[in-house]
Amino acid sequence: MKADIVIENAIVLTKEFEFLRNHTIVINNKKIVDIFETGSKDYDFKDKIEGRNKLVMPGLIDGHTHLTQQLLRGMISDEYPVIYKRFNLPLESKLTPNQVKLSTELGCLEMIKSGTTSFADAGGTHTHKMVEGVMNSGLRAVLTRSTSDTGEGIPKNMKETTEEGLRLSEKFYLDYNNYAEGRIKVWFQYRTLASCTDELIVGLTNLAKKYKTGVHTHISEYGEAVLYSLRTHGMREIEYLDHLGVMFPKLLAAHCCLVSENDIKILRDTNTKVIHCPRSNLGKAVTKTPSMLNHGISVGFGTDGTAHSGLSLFREITAFKHSQIITHGVPYLDFSVMNSKIMLEMLTMGGARAIGMEDEIGSLEIGKIADIITIDLNKPHILPTHNLLNTLMESVNSNDVCDSIVDGKIIMRNRKVLTLDEDCLLAEAGKNLELLNKLNNWSDDNLITLDRRSK
Ligand SMILES: [Zn+2]
Repeated sequence: MKADIVIENAIVLTKEFEFLRNHTIVINNKKIVDIFETGSKDYDFKDKIEGRNKLVMPGLIDGHTHLTQQLLRGMISDEYPVIYKRFNLPLESKLTPNQVKLSTELGCLEMIKSGTTSFADAGGTHTHKMVEGVMNSGLRAVLTRSTSDTGEGIPKNMKETTEEGLRLSEKFYLDYNNYAEGRIKVWFQYRTLASCTDELIVGLTNLAKKYKTGVHTHISEYGEAVLYSLRTHGMREIEYLDHLGVMFPKLLAAHCCLVSENDIKILRDTNTKVIHCPRSNLGKAVTKTPSMLNHGISVGFGTDGTAHSGLSLFREITAFKHSQIITHGVPYLDFSVMNSKIMLEMLTMGGARAIGMEDEIGSLEIGKIADIITIDLNKPHILPTHNLLNTLMESVNSNDVCDSIVDGKIIMRNRKVLTLDEDCLLAEAGKNLELLNKLNNWSDDNLITLDRRSK
């Protein structure tokens, strides 16, 4: 039997979250075609990854990130609100098309090295350049074009008329959906309830329904956003969006930090998909995740871009677990309120459902697309362990990710990224950061970039 790639002698994570020791996983024509005990079958393969002391698991899915904010690293910690109006939007609005491509590739590089194989971007500018960057990286993505047509504090070039928002979003969908052999999907996006008119929100949702695609937005992230909705509409954000008829199963609702029990019922009844971004969210609220999960709502994780604390989902889940236990567990002596199995389900299938791909990715099953990572277990912070599931959720970090396969192609082998030039990207990013600092009147005093002097 013929195969493109085999990973032999590995520990394979099953969809039931069990670990199969000494197993082989076989990839052919982009898909997982076989999983069996190593040595029990023979395949004629083109490429092999040695899996001894490695865990093979589904690639991680970042359900909410901002590739156009990649050049904000280190800038926003400890700053006063409202951060996205003071830093994020000014930076995004000044990016040139080539800087969008650079920012995209730098973000993709960080994601590949952190174990992410798919992501949903929350909406950028010069999106044709985002497409180019993602194509080069080899990652899978759901991209959107950022739209805003009202509200305070939005840079001029990021605000457009309702008609432009609808027309250009539809054009972006028609131009690029299913690009890069289907790795790139295009969804619609409205930035927030406060920065978009009802007409734009309803219009974009209708376009998404017409094309059977999804919508990505920020919901109930800031107290200010919920209060705005209460003052303007006499309803909470989620209540008002439901009133507009735009809550539906392919709505990816990022954050959902500040929600009432009634909001949770609406999320459940409309089968809206929730993405939490723990490190970003913790500056605003501790999410009511146990209640959401008890209602059967699908929840996954995102990073909200690198500016908050990097693009590692492994880092996000540790912050998430501790904040959930201290808030929903400790007061009731219920210490297993957010156990490893629940979290791994959210980390893998929660992300897959959020981007509408739960039948294709998110678990290692025969017939699913081969989006796979390996974890090097031969580390003193991982082995030996009594419970690999707990150790995976508590101790594994992005530096332990060894190999990455997307759409059946190896894009990182032994931590060497094969699709992007790491040194070149870091050097270019440093140069461009200096230019952007000047444009924004930000200081270079603490700026550190890659040292390219010859040794
Ligand atoms: Zn966001």
